[in-house]
Amino acid sequence: MTTFEDFGLKDEILKAIKELGFEHPMPIQEKTIPYIANCGKDLVALAQTGTGKTAGFGLPVLQQIDTELKQTQVLILAPTRELCIQISNDLKNFSKYMQNLKIVPVYGGEDIVKQLRQLDVTPQVIVATPGRLIDLCKRKKVSLTDIRFLVLDEADEMLNMGFQEDIQTIIEKTPENRRTFLFSATMPKGIANIVSKYMNEYEEIAVGKKNAGAENVQHIFYMVQAKNRYLALKRIVDLNPDIYGIVFCRTRQETKEVAEHLMRDGYNADALHGDLSQPQRDSVMQKFRIKNLQLLVATDVAARGLDVNDLTHVINYNLPDDVEVYTHRSGRTGRANKSGVSISIIHTKERHKIREIEKIINKKFEQEQIPNGLEVCKKQLMHFITRMENVTVNEEDINPFMPEILSRLNNMTREELIKRFTSIEFNRFLEYYKDAIDLNIETKSEKPEQRKRRGRHECIRFKINKGTRDGFTPKRLLGLINDTTNDKSINVGDIEITPKLSFFDIDIEQAEQIMAAFAQQKRFTLKPVSEENPRKNSQREFNRNEGKEKRNRGDKNFKDKKGKSGNKFKEERRRQRDARKSKKKK
Ligand code: AMP
Repeated sequence: MTTFEDFGLKDEILKAIKELGFEHPMPIQEKTIPYIANCGKDLVALAQTGTGKTAGFGLPVLQQIDTELKQTQVLILAPTRELCIQISNDLKNFSKYMQNLKIVPVYGGEDIVKQLRQLDVTPQVIVATPGRLIDLCKRKKVSLTDIRFLVLDEADEMLNMGFQEDIQTIIEKTPENRRTFLFSATMPKGIANIVSKYMNEYEEIAVGKKNAGAENVQHIFYMVQAKNRYLALKRIVDLNPDIYGIVFCRTRQETKEVAEHLMRDGYNADALHGDLSQPQRDSVMQKFRIKNLQLLVATDVAARGLDVNDLTHVINYNLPDDVEVYTHRSGRTGRANKSGVSISIIHTKERHKIREIEKIINKKFEQEQIPNGLEVCKKQLMHFITRMENVTVNEEDINPFMPEILSRLNNMTREELIKRFTSIEFNRFLEYYKDAIDLNIETKSEKPEQRKRRGRHECIRFKINKGTRDGFTPKRLLGLINDTTNDKSINVGDIEITPKLSFFDIDIEQAEQIMAAFAQQKRFTLKPVSEENPRKNSQREFNRNEGKEKRNRGDKNFKDKKGKSGNKFKEERRRQRDARKSKKKK
């Protein structure tokens, strides 16, 4: 197995990364560190955040800096303030034991005077957002004439944020003999243009496939009616009690609303969006980083640069219009060799979007069913039991209270005790979910076992040779089924009564019992409706009735087989009525 020592890195760097706990290089580092350290070419690396790319370019670049020179030799461009700070902190950690090295992050949204002061002594490394760097260059506070290494980090994100022109302006200020290393999660056209225009001979390194979703991310979607999105979100969260994730929304307004609803409903959530001031954003992000928050509801823009590596879930409250945005969202989970889940809540008209994403990420989505109330309650109960099993008992602290507690609980059996303790937690969920509706939209592709899981059992349709003409009503039909089978638990579904026949659905598991019972008596004939078109017979019967109805109502559009219209029937009935009346008068 490769070690960092194999790369010939300086002792100061090796000592620092050892302290950080880096034992072995990550796959991208195995490729980029020797390449950047030993060959003179440029590099295009396709890699997601969380793959260890900062050390991938940071270590070999630090290795080659001349710390005796007070010139800016390394420029790293990144899309967001947060990413600049993160990269700069990582580099400072890696170079902790290197003497005379200065690394300065500069980014928008921060007091420029403070940054100007930091640049009084020329740093060897600048980590910058493009807009702010151009500003500083104009003020002659930064000179790019001695740049030897230019890193474009999250290049696709920089383009998404409209930095294309700024990037070009900056590149043109750097010397032509610089080496350029471009890192990007995806490879849109704009990136290819930069590569062809500004990069010298380069090699392409890909960790994972081009535009691929992270390998260890599972992609799931739930299909609900748009109006049930929020309820679905809550069930998904309730089904994953240990969730630590980001809920992505499309707009600031939606972000605010979803976060407010979640907070009101007792979830540990908060919102991150562009209407917050920088200190407010910092505070929310920090709470989320240290896991004081379980759910962060965010817009794509606001969540950029948020450096959290151990998210369990990413939830797409709405699918993004742009597939690349999906790649970025889902790539936030399943990082640093951990597994993750990317969940999308969609409605029926969005299925095609799922197919589009599948093609791009080259991975299949799994459709899952929104859990019913009972499933959520069971999951929460078992989670509570696990917590109980794993809880640390502070003997010293609890022991003084034990005699009194034991004497009060003395009369209860073990079972009663367990029931009562678990009910403290469980009742809340039971109460909430007792009338919970099924949020799933039934789809044609649904497998019988899926339908069954959601409480919709497979049915079989029967017809019986009596209808309204025989005085049959749904109630009478139910009575007849109960009496004939002598079983009140028969599960009867849809009922349809026509003049001559009645139709009803029965749980497939009870079909044999019904047939056997009706076979015992002679007044009624019961038959299953043909399988290929179970509704055919009843529909035909229904059409006939509908026709009679129209005719009786005098519907102008109705024509019987002989071409008599509804109006003619009406006229004829009126004539007969008038004839009867005049006969009575006489
Ligand atoms: P990055 O993709 O650069 O944001 O890195 C993702 C995470 O992996 C960061 O928290 C790094 O500190 C960590 N990391 C980077 N390289 C290694 C390594 N060789 N061993 C362990 N952790 C690492």
